[in-house]
Amino acid sequence: MVTNSLETRREFLKKTFTAAVLTAGGMGLAGCAGGAPTTTAPGASAPWYRRTVRWGQTNITEIDPTRYDIPWWRQYWKRTCTQGVIINAGGIVAYYPSKFPLHHQAEYLNGRDLYGELAAAAHADGLAVLARMDSSRAHEDFYQAHPDWFAHDASGQPFRSGGLYTACINGPYYEEYLVGVLREIIERSHPEGVTDNSWSGLDRNSICHCENCAKKFRAAASRELPQTKNWNDPGYRQWMEWSYARRLEIWDLNNRMVRAIGGPDCLWIGMNGGAVESQCQNFRDDREICRRAEIIMLDYQARNNADGFQANAQAGQRLHSLLGWDKLIPESMALYQAGSPVFRVASKPEPEVRLWMLDGFAGGIQPWWHHVGAYEEDRRAYHTTEPLLRWHQANAQYLVKRKPIASVGVVWSRKNEDYFGRDNAAELVGLPVRGLANALLRARIPWLPVHADDLERDAGNFSVLILPNLTAMSDDHCRSVRQFVGRGGALIATGTSSLCDEWGDARNDFGLADLFGAHQRSGGSAASERARTRGTAETSHTYLRLLPERRAVVDGPRAGDEPPVTAHRHPVLRGFDETDLIPFGGRLDPLTVAPGAEVLLTFVPAFPISPPETAWMRQPRTDIPGLILNQPAGGGRVAFLPADLDSRFGRDNLPDHGILLANLVKWAVNDKLPLTVEGHGLVDCHLYRQSNRLILHLVNLTNTGAWRAPVDELIPIGPLRVKVQLPSDSHPGKLKLLVSGENPRLEIHDGWAAFEIKSILDHEVVVI
Ligand SMILES: [Zn+2]
Repeated sequence: MVTNSLETRREFLKKTFTAAVLTAGGMGLAGCAGGAPTTTAPGASAPWYRRTVRWGQTNITEIDPTRYDIPWWRQYWKRTCTQGVIINAGGIVAYYPSKFPLHHQAEYLNGRDLYGELAAAAHADGLAVLARMDSSRAHEDFYQAHPDWFAHDASGQPFRSGGLYTACINGPYYEEYLVGVLREIIERSHPEGVTDNSWSGLDRNSICHCENCAKKFRAAASRELPQTKNWNDPGYRQWMEWSYARRLEIWDLNNRMVRAIGGPDCLWIGMNGGAVESQCQNFRDDREICRRAEIIMLDYQARNNADGFQANAQAGQRLHSLLGWDKLIPESMALYQAGSPVFRVASKPEPEVRLWMLDGFAGGIQPWWHHVGAYEEDRRAYHTTEPLLRWHQANAQYLVKRKPIASVGVVWSRKNEDYFGRDNAAELVGLPVRGLANALLRARIPWLPVHADDLERDAGNFSVLILPNLTAMSDDHCRSVRQFVGRGGALIATGTSSLCDEWGDARNDFGLADLFGAHQRSGGSAASERARTRGTAETSHTYLRLLPERRAVVDGPRAGDEPPVTAHRHPVLRGFDETDLIPFGGRLDPLTVAPGAEVLLTFVPAFPISPPETAWMRQPRTDIPGLILNQPAGGGRVAFLPADLDSRFGRDNLPDHGILLANLVKWAVNDKLPLTVEGHGLVDCHLYRQSNRLILHLVNLTNTGAWRAPVDELIPIGPLRVKVQLPSDSHPGKLKLLVSGENPRLEIHDGWAAFEIKSILDHEVVVI
């Protein structure tokens, strides 16, 4: 019954596909280089992980052995210019007849070697093959046979998820059983490598108390496993770090093993997420992983509303800053309705997929289409990928092996996420980064993430470093920042940056108090605790007063007998001439301000909102600073913003906060930014250098779904007037737009290239 009905559907699908190809605006198969390694990607002699720039994945469900139309999918690989495929092999479910009796065979496999057939077909078509594993869990019979291979809580109960049992990464499941499974898979089908969907075991919310964990932790830490989470317990911190280190051991162990079996270019690649928070929740240390990896397979399928499409470029740039820009970061991009809510077998609206994918390209990410199931009744998803990957194929040479140009570095660290963020990292760490990123996006200021541990090496690439509430900083981190400022670099720090050491323990004063020109009055302990517990969840009816006040010299009634103030306002308050205050929402503590430092914002404490008759300031003026500018002797400009406007902007989206943040950055770099883009719209701007050319990627994020997925309509913007600063050794002759195909007039003036882009629907790539 099932088969017959599927047969009919398959026929229908084939007809639909043929019709689609015939009507696809002349884009027949001839337009694509097919599955063979592309000539426009890095050299053909390079190993697969350096030249396979377009990937695809049909995530096989257990019923698919009855309905996987391999010839149809081979056509799909061709028309989407796919060069590598990820094929489900084993782990939770095996798609080949495994010799391991506990290796659960797909329910409808019926002895078939579906994985092997697909791997052979892909190899025959010249595609790279990654065998997909999921090593995280196993079925009941496996658990019953080897209960000691599985993770247990303190009471001895096994950890379960989705009806399956979670394997312990410290036991023989990982060290013996999986080794055998990987050997079997590699010897049967010779994939280019292995990728694992869920490789890092239990997340940090669960402590495994199995015998293997207890024994290994005792040997490593000379103490017993912590019973519960306690951030102040040195033993718990030791368990955290030991847990991170174990994931790296797994990475190394698996790589040694698959290379020994499959040859030096056979890689084991655990999939990783794009968000720092989820990586840390899973003990995946991006910096350490990137030091080991030849390629990152990024499992970051869709946006969330608050972070927007721009999060994809940010993830690509963050990881490239750790991995290097000569390596590849393909990213699984969901063609089904991923995000919130999830519908695995419904097509995601095409514009939503498109903008996520394009913003990833702008951040150095390579496409990897992802369907769940080999047969879709919602066939619309099959039409989404082709034009995007064809465009990628035609322009791949401009999209890889390039270096970003940005004068702004935003500092982050894994330990700040873990030990300052603790159980509220989304708010304490994620929110300020989001707010800052959105402010820079709106102001079209290119920036790059920089890991605090890499400041020594990378800080010199930037004119300004920003610490978005980077509260947990080691003495070394503080020293690196101090050296950067000492060499003339500018610094912007917000919230309680540098108030704690790398374990989240309070210092007596800010670690960078000398740079901030501001000191804690009553020790850092209470202040850091308030910062951690108060967060931004609560919005108080508070304001920030802009100094000097100017109300009396502009139109408007005069309050009381205040004298007119005529002093000139600082440029960071540009655009606020008609106001003496801006909304805030947070609370601030008094600080001691060093002589010579200048306070530009002061705190106005909360007063009633309702009823309106009560809404007047009880204490209109305080000396509690909200923004302090300082210039240490011989050093660069420093702005310290105790008022956490980055977090506020991330949460509340009030333009005042975004404008002030952007003003601060422009002041800090003395208005020296490598790029200006004028014209309406929300545009994500990324500038790169590639040998003797500049590449500017502009993604038009202007749409009705900017902060509310999904987008179902693209809205064109333009004209945009663009100016790009030219490197001193560059003498550009012409301009090429890779999307519209136009060649606008290029004007060179004083080392700047100026031109106009008439219109952008989704994105444009300018090659100068
Ligand atoms: Zn364990």
